[in-house]
Amino acid sequence: MSDNSTYQKLRAHLAYLRLTAAAEALPAELDHATKKKLGHTAFLERLLDVEVAATEQRRKASLERFASLPSPWRLDDFDFDAQPSVDRKLVDELATLRFLEDATNVLFIGPPGVGKTMLAIGLARASIDAGYRTYYTTAADLAARCHRAALEGRWATTMRFYAGPRLLIIDEVGYLPLASEAAAALFQVVTQRYLKSSTVMTTNLGIASWGQIFDDPTVAVAMLDRLLHRSVVFNIDGDSYRMRAHRARADQLRKAVTTQNT
Ligand code: ADP
Ligand code: MG
Repeated sequence: MSDNSTYQKLRAHLAYLRLTAAAEALPAELDHATKKKLGHTAFLERLLDVEVAATEQRRKASLERFASLPSPWRLDDFDFDAQPSVDRKLVDELATLRFLEDATNVLFIGPPGVGKTMLAIGLARASIDAGYRTYYTTAADLAARCHRAALEGRWATTMRFYAGPRLLIIDEVGYLPLASEAAAALFQVVTQRYLKSSTVMTTNLGIASWGQIFDDPTVAVAMLDRLLHRSVVFNIDGDSYRMRAHRARADQLRKAVTTQNT
């Protein structure tokens, strides 16, 4: 068999196996191997390395798209000095993602603007980077989606969807009161994931006020029971970060104006 027909066959094999990146890299890698006098093993390793890298990148991009994070925040962006009520050591520990192994839940409780969403997204980002299937939703979106699913006869599929991710972020629980159907959806999502996979929740309501989110206080109690059984809870207080920045700017402006006037 001529070199040329062997080469054509090799290309056909790579195409058949859908190793597109390797197929594309083949001519350059063959050249490189000839120039550097590489052995068969070294050549093959380099060629497959190209394909592995491409597959890895595709996987990352697909995890990223699936996760639907609303912003690119990372835990490193969080200014811990500005928010002393957040235990930095605990956040560092969570960033190792060991909490995913025993399905520990994380609850961020605090008033608006203190960085709850930022921390939740930071954890989500770490989880995506580590290759875990991660999904972000707000409680309101989850409720709306479950409502549609119920109408369209896709309840079971939708519940399976929320059970799937290794890490599920449910942001803004308690901002809006949940109708009993929505509360039931949230309850079922939490129950399905209980002891299997971690859920991160953010809420503006202290645990004692969770009865207000749900029409039915027994649902609130049962859900908290599952959420808190194995959990890390952050009670964040202090000023809104946004308001603080806003106030600092206003102060500067005021100072500038008063200096001008004197
Ligand atoms: P919450 O979800 O608690 O309402 P966010 O996480 O949305 O608050 O934060 C509000 C805004 O303030 C965002 O732009 C966020 O990036 C910023 N922010 C809040 N806390 C911090 C912090 N400690 N370091 C840096 N930025 C912060
Ligand atoms: Mg928020």
